[in-house]
Amino acid sequence: MPEMPEVETIRQDLSKRVCQKQIVSAEVRLARQLRAPKTIAGFESLVIGKTIYKIDRRGKYLLFDLGDVSIVIHLGMTGQLYYAQAIDDIDMTHVRFLFRLDSGEYLVFADIRTFGGIYAVKKERLKEISGLATLGPEPLSGELTATYLLPRLAKRKSPIKAFLLDQKQVGGLGNIYVDEALFVAGVRPMRSCDSLTPKEVEKLIGGIDRVIADGIRDGGTTFRDYRNGEGGKGEHQNHLFVYGRSGLPCTVCGNMIEKCTVGGRGTHYCASCQK
Ligand SMILES: [Zn+2]
Repeated sequence: MPEMPEVETIRQDLSKRVCQKQIVSAEVRLARQLRAPKTIAGFESLVIGKTIYKIDRRGKYLLFDLGDVSIVIHLGMTGQLYYAQAIDDIDMTHVRFLFRLDSGEYLVFADIRTFGGIYAVKKERLKEISGLATLGPEPLSGELTATYLLPRLAKRKSPIKAFLLDQKQVGGLGNIYVDEALFVAGVRPMRSCDSLTPKEVEKLIGGIDRVIADGIRDGGTTFRDYRNGEGGKGEHQNHLFVYGRSGLPCTVCGNMIEKCTVGGRGTHYCASCQK
């Protein structure tokens, strides 16, 4: 699923393409992916005629600033959000929302597995979007510190990987970048939270920031469905340490990368580099 680097890449790409343009039509092609308001007519009345001033991101959410209203988009497992110059450039097969802009261009939301969702809300009601209101501090924000993490980890016996995947604890991480960050930190994913030393927690924060920054630098990771804001693929799949590399040699020590399940998620690690 798109994680923070993928969503940030889309934000940066689309900011160059759709900002300061007006939404002239908003076609809802799959009503159940409209999370708010309840009706298509209500959605249209909130967004049509509005200008997209700015695009922000919180965790894995994109927030389109339309003045008094925000469009909030979560890409779910397979969501794609991209810009298209003309209708003929769009493969309509999985398109769920189609915004036409006053420039004649399009903002396209496509989603194969349909776990993604779109909200349009008055700004003062943003806090009612539950997943957004409860997001924990994000990597690279300066808020994900040892002071924040240490007391939370000390009272938990759950695997560190499960903690890092919980959006209420840390916003924006998913399966790929958690495995990568734990590798950089030298910590095995199944270790209980309360077993991490302060030194390991410092290395973990450094590891998280590094893999997220590298992921953004590379325009995200594309294994299958992820596309950037221009409809193209990311590059970070070519620079992964452990994720998707089970059975291949560790790039640091040469040992075989192992795969197991932690908290129901496929998990990749090096038993030699990670303790
Ligand atoms: Zn290794």
